[in-house]
Amino acid sequence: MQIIQPHYHAIARTAQDYEKMAMSGVVAVCEPAFWAGFDRKYAGTFVDYFRQISEFEPTRAADYGIRHFSWVAMNPKEAENTTLSHEVLEQMPQFFQNPNVIGVGEIGFHKTTRNEEEIFQAQVEMAVQHHQLILIHTPHLGDKVRGTKRTLEVLAGLNVDPERVWIDHVEEHTVKAPLDAGYWVGFTLYPITKCTPKRAVDMIEMYGRERLLVNSSADWGPSDPFTLQECVMELRRRGHSVQDAIEIFHNNPCHFLGQSPKWDIKPVRLEEIEVERPVLTPR
Ligand SMILES: [Zn+2]
Repeated sequence: MQIIQPHYHAIARTAQDYEKMAMSGVVAVCEPAFWAGFDRKYAGTFVDYFRQISEFEPTRAADYGIRHFSWVAMNPKEAENTTLSHEVLEQMPQFFQNPNVIGVGEIGFHKTTRNEEEIFQAQVEMAVQHHQLILIHTPHLGDKVRGTKRTLEVLAGLNVDPERVWIDHVEEHTVKAPLDAGYWVGFTLYPITKCTPKRAVDMIEMYGRERLLVNSSADWGPSDPFTLQECVMELRRRGHSVQDAIEIFHNNPCHFLGQSPKWDIKPVRLEEIEVERPVLTPR
């Protein structure tokens, strides 16, 4: 079973996580730029952070045979500081030349403020201008519905191709609108907040597996890279095939990320080598 972690904050994780992921089928991770847990003071700090995720982190992943791609962005939380944000935005285009950088993300809303919206919109426009993919974070539960609604309104007013936009951290009450509008959606599986493997499979059974990316985020907070493997087991227990799991956990990321010319991992079909496997029963 080959798995891609399309949203993974590797700098917050250990080498042992890479090793165990490699042993459990992970072939690639994609690292968006996000909040470090404290507000940074200088644009230069972001530049070094972008270098870390686009130049150094791929070498750490390569030690375990895992491909590493990255996104650059001013994250939604620090976007409240518009002066700093514009300084950071000026530095971003140079990273689009990096062979591992596939887009602009994660951007979007944290508290759905006017300042956040200004920086969100500027980054969407930059991504379109530089032919970059777009990864959008949606806010935590207190503001998720309002923030998702406003995200869709802002996008509708800009010249974006929905096929090249991924709206992440959707839950039961926010999944339908982005899908109906033609965007990709992401389920983020966390041990305590956001979504669980079982709820993710419920949503897959309700809405199908098209334009869907499942991720573990796996950052410096309570998170677990192996929630994806848990989700694969849950799918199998409900009678979905291994190829169904591959479509969701490997091939869907290849279809979305493959819109970037830098992404060269191809979808796989296991039918030819499929062996008889025991039927799993639901727990
Ligand atoms: Zn993230």
